[in-house]
Amino acid sequence: MSATIIDGKLISAQIKDELKEKTAVLKAKGIEVTLAVVLVGEDPASQVYVRNKKKACEYVGFKSLSYELPAETSQEELLKLIDELNGRDDVDGILVQMPLPSHINEKAVIDAIDPSKDVDGFHPMNVGALCIGEEGFVSCTPAGVIQLLKRGCEGNISIAGKECVIVGRSNIVGKPMALLMLRENATVTVAHSKTANLKEVCKRADILIAAVGKASMITADYVKEGAIVIDVGINRNADGKLCGDVAYDEVKEIASAITPVPGGVGPMTIAMLMNNCYEAAVRKAQEK
Ligand code: NDP
Repeated sequence: MSATIIDGKLISAQIKDELKEKTAVLKAKGIEVTLAVVLVGEDPASQVYVRNKKKACEYVGFKSLSYELPAETSQEELLKLIDELNGRDDVDGILVQMPLPSHINEKAVIDAIDPSKDVDGFHPMNVGALCIGEEGFVSCTPAGVIQLLKRGCEGNISIAGKECVIVGRSNIVGKPMALLMLRENATVTVAHSKTANLKEVCKRADILIAAVGKASMITADYVKEGAIVIDVGINRNADGKLCGDVAYDEVKEIASAITPVPGGVGPMTIAMLMNNCYEAAVRKAQEK
């Protein structure tokens, strides 16, 4: 039997609609949510991401401030802008689109953002908060995966007690994903390029999350019958077509539920960014 498709487009639209309603309630109380979006250089993919983030802001009713800086912007100039945005009371969230030009140190930029405005959830303070179970901002893509699991399959997926294998250990996806699944009481294994017997490890998973960046690497022989498979990967296949890390056509015949690429995890990232911005504004209002 073919797997149930977990529809990220639909679930992200639900989340954005919920945020739109909640934002209107805030607005009625005189609170406006504002996201500052900073882009350095003219990378076409980054320009598309930034445009989509601004469109999402408009949809949910946030104000977005746009800073499109030339590629030759110095690190000092960028840090000065971040400092200014950190100090502005009317800015709730700051997003600096990655990757940055090679002469700018990304870590220095991430570290410079006020953790209470770090809606990407990349600042060490927010990563640390996630690690010890305190309130903070969670990296948007893994947070989106949790929502797919909670809302997909009509809410019938249970995470607690399940064997979860995550393939990939990056700071923005694999590691926070592992911490979030742990928070949901899964039994978590994190696999990576040095993992021995990767196929056998993956086959143990009730929930298999692929965040590798290798087109269609997870074939049917990595997947246990009836597993739930979440594909974070965004790759191009030999024909230039968008595809995930999972060999979708064959794995969907074995899995009980699966996310497609495109239309799975991808749309969730922006929805969770919007959610973080909303939370930033609410927390700021509560502190006043
Ligand atoms: P990274 O390149 O930072 O990390 C890839 C991870 O995969 C590393 O931990 C690496 O292991 C591991 N890996 C690489 N090759 C293998 C292998 N053969 N076997 C097992 N593990 C392997 O990527 P990201 O985490 O940033 O992204 C992963 C994918 O997710 C990419 O396709 C990216 O485009 C996509 N992505 C999608 C997003 C979305 O919105 N849907 C958002 C962010 C990313 P090691 O640590 O040992 O090198």
